[in-house]
Amino acid sequence: MNVCDQCGAQVREQDSICPTCQAPLQTKAVPETAGNPYLPPVQKSFTSPAPPVNEGDATGGVIPYKNPQALLAYYLGLLSGLPLIGLPLGIAAFILGIKGLKARKRNPVIKGSIHAGIGVGCGGLFTLVWGIVIVVVLISLLSQS
Ligand SMILES: [Zn+2]
Repeated sequence: MNVCDQCGAQVREQDSICPTCQAPLQTKAVPETAGNPYLPPVQKSFTSPAPPVNEGDATGGVIPYKNPQALLAYYLGLLSGLPLIGLPLGIAAFILGIKGLKARKRNPVIKGSIHAGIGVGCGGLFTLVWGIVIVVVLISLLSQS
């Protein structure tokens, strides 16, 4: 049932003129196109593939799977080449690397043997190097006095 815009009287759908006030009636054949809310953009059904998991990677990828101590040993091992702080870092890398290797031995799923190995290697090597350096420096200092 439509209503006349002019007088408010009820009019029939097919009326072109209001029977009460004779005003021309606006045909409302198209229902409320203006009121139609703009439809939000359709969500793409395409979902981006999940990032590849380095399951078969022997190195365990960038971050060794569930083996943070191996990663820590790796970086500490590399940093142990620095003078002054190299000795404690090298010792820490050596210990963490061994822990990482043991963790991997207990659970083969855990990766990071490469990282842990590098940590043990570099850490052990630089610990040795800095240890020798310190001993040499101490000997030279003692011999001077
Ligand atoms: Zn009317």
